[in-house]
Amino acid sequence: MKVLTDPAACVGADLGAWLAGGGGQGLARALADPGAILPVLEQSGLRGLGGAGFPTHRKWAGVAAQPGPERWIICNGNEDEPGTFKDRFLLAATPHQVIEGALIAALAVKATQVVLYINPREREAVLTCRAAVAAWMAHPLAASVSAAIGQALTLQVRESSGHYIGGEETGAISSVEGGFPFPRLKPPFPFQQGVHGAPTLVNNVETLAHVPHILRHGAAWYQALGLGGAAGTKLYSLSGDVLRPGLHELPMGTSLRELVFTQGGGMLAGRGFKAVFTGGPSNTLLTAGDLDVALDFESLRARGSRLGTGAMIVVGEGTSILRKTAEYVAFFANNSCGQCPPCKIGTHQVSRILERLDTGAGRAGDLAALENLARLLPGSGRCGLVDGAATVLASSLATFRAEYEAALPRG
Ligand code: SF4
Repeated sequence: MKVLTDPAACVGADLGAWLAGGGGQGLARALADPGAILPVLEQSGLRGLGGAGFPTHRKWAGVAAQPGPERWIICNGNEDEPGTFKDRFLLAATPHQVIEGALIAALAVKATQVVLYINPREREAVLTCRAAVAAWMAHPLAASVSAAIGQALTLQVRESSGHYIGGEETGAISSVEGGFPFPRLKPPFPFQQGVHGAPTLVNNVETLAHVPHILRHGAAWYQALGLGGAAGTKLYSLSGDVLRPGLHELPMGTSLRELVFTQGGGMLAGRGFKAVFTGGPSNTLLTAGDLDVALDFESLRARGSRLGTGAMIVVGEGTSILRKTAEYVAFFANNSCGQCPPCKIGTHQVSRILERLDTGAGRAGDLAALENLARLLPGSGRCGLVDGAATVLASSLATFRAEYEAALPRG
């Protein structure tokens, strides 16, 4: 069942069309009983869909419990990771469910500042959201949220700086404050001290988009959308060596085989399935033996991987894992903000070694050097960028070692 990508919901900035199709009912229910929002979310099993998978109700409760008159919500649409292209679709094609979700969040945590934080390269998303925000601010439902929280609500679109690290929670906070998106040390966590020191809820676009549907149809309905005990639906960004790459909304818990061979149309002609970079390029790879794994948080964790953003980059026989790993580590190295020396130096070190191995200029000690770096780098930075680089390196090195060995000099 399509929920977020239901054609009836893909009305662009047309708020009238969204409301005519049943939009606004989730917010109306939330307004009727704000105290029920968190329990409904808890029962629904909704988790953060930007990568971390943290239970949404707990994140919201953490912000709601903080003292002080001002709270912020950042709807994180910075999306910049290779292979991930879900949030830009939601923001451009169906922004009202995202905004309605953010308004319900504002009601639940009593936030007066709501920011749709969008990657500036996604012009259609930025322009559509600006029009959608203007429509909401002129609608009585937004005024009802202000009345319910007892303060005037500000809802605005802010363009991020377009840096990858601006998608990290504290990087987003730095950016919304007007600075370079440097990630910050935690604690304090954003729910304690975020934008200008105020408690701040940072939620991914896809997470917020589910919220109005859950409030409208109920937690049991949402739970039943998933497979094998997983809740809801998930947007999977499918790319790589498949016949039908693209955005696929499927039940949470759909198998990797179903995604690749049915929804994705199977592998490109003559190409066997080799591996998939799961949840984006910063997690442990899955291989042919994992095709029946359910694509949900727990099943992937049990395989030592992660659902991440739901990006699935499929690699067919004949495509070099070493080459792909070199590309992804180069991406991380080029996007390091440089605050943490192991990340600033280590990711470039790894990148240089991978490049020379991939271009036939490998040296005898390269594999040992990569193994050392894969061991030393995790946990050495204040954000997850360096961990992502180390994880994909360690995974590809362990699983496709023969490719690395074949790249070493002979004799
Ligand atoms: Fe910046 Fe890397 Fe440190 Fe993250 S781990 S804060 S990207 S230097």
